[in-house]
Amino acid sequence: MKQAWTTFATRAVPRYTSYPTAADFSPRVAEESARVWAASVAPDKPVSVYLHVPFCEKLCFYCGCATSVPNGYSRIAAYLKTLHQEIDLWAAALGPHAGMGHLHFGGGSPNALVAEDFKSLVAHARAAFGEHAGLEIAVEVDPRTLTPDFIHAMAEAGVSRVSFGVQTLAPKVQEAVGRLQPRELLVDGIERLRAEGIHAINMDLMYGLPYQTVDDVIEAAKFAVEMGAARISYFGYAHVPWFAKHQAAIEEAALPDLDARFQQAEIGAMTLTFAGYHAIGLDHFAQPGDPLSRAAQKGTLRRNFQGYTDDPCDTLIGIGSTSISQFRQGYVQNFKERNAWRAAVEGGRLPSERGIELTDDDRLRGRAIEKLMCQLWVDTAEVCREMGAEPGSLDDALETARFLQSAGLCKITGNIVSVPKEARLLLRTVAQCFDGRFKPAEARHAKAV
Ligand code: SF4
Repeated sequence: MKQAWTTFATRAVPRYTSYPTAADFSPRVAEESARVWAASVAPDKPVSVYLHVPFCEKLCFYCGCATSVPNGYSRIAAYLKTLHQEIDLWAAALGPHAGMGHLHFGGGSPNALVAEDFKSLVAHARAAFGEHAGLEIAVEVDPRTLTPDFIHAMAEAGVSRVSFGVQTLAPKVQEAVGRLQPRELLVDGIERLRAEGIHAINMDLMYGLPYQTVDDVIEAAKFAVEMGAARISYFGYAHVPWFAKHQAAIEEAALPDLDARFQQAEIGAMTLTFAGYHAIGLDHFAQPGDPLSRAAQKGTLRRNFQGYTDDPCDTLIGIGSTSISQFRQGYVQNFKERNAWRAAVEGGRLPSERGIELTDDDRLRGRAIEKLMCQLWVDTAEVCREMGAEPGSLDDALETARFLQSAGLCKITGNIVSVPKEARLLLRTVAQCFDGRFKPAEARHAKAV
């Protein structure tokens, strides 16, 4: 990595899966706003739905997700009861719409549910929200606990895409992060999914884990290629033990340093692109024929709380504790504390704890950030026109970006800010130039690299 980039690489910056980010949400925007916004969705547009299943059999030390170990199925069953109730609350709150276009299960590990409970959830969501033509159902799974029964249930429920948590194949690294999953187990899970007709398999890979080497990341990238992964998310491990407490179990001295992280990121990306994958945005790769690649080529790629997506939907209903819903007018997040979430739902209230109403300036900056994060360049004049803003409304961001240009992080040509491929890992740092709410003192975000 270039010496001049070290300072930028160690700065904390948001992931920009939304703008404004969740750090700006406030309790002043909660259920009342959620109800008004839900009632006014576009009648001719589909909605997307996210269902959060915050349970895992065992916590991986690197995990930053909102999840927990259930210690028996009764806690999961109690959570499910509330989840079903929340589905009904949102379905009743939504104004006329064109049905559910995407249903995404995340967590945690959605395969912590027993097969019949999973099928009931899908059936309930289909009935409550209605189906838009071409409904895509996607599920994140933990390969270690993926049973033949659950795979069969996914196939029967119409699941068309599964995200498979691979991360690394290196035994020493797996041991250091508390996630043991031999190669044979992964291959067996993938073959079973395919045998049941689920062919679109995404994989999550990581770099920057304790004891991880360049050879390890090459091995994992080659595995993803050999197994025909449709999409690959290739994330750097973000060590934030003050935020994700169980990360304290990770031995800091065993973590690769900044240069090693950068090298692992580069070599993993090269392995995937040499194999024919398209590099997408900050950290995704997709087969050329995959809808994500096609969206990137057409300029219709979007970024939302699940990362990069070809889903063009403006309305995302997040169901379950901690879930975030997105509307044209703003964002609302459900109660994180499970009892508070349950009490709200049982009281017949949408369980929104906090959120934010977008200003015109937020929409303008959010669109510029999304474009930059998706296509690695943004034309500020075009964004101002698209969003109905005065020409020059993003000139302050251009000025800030000039400083980064001198370090080689971006290039400014007229109104266009572009990020060269070799600086892709610092894309969030360039996006931050457009962030009108960024507070440098905030250490809650992960480092840029
Ligand atoms: S299985 Fe996934 S969600 Fe669960 S602890 Fe491990 S990484 Fe986190």
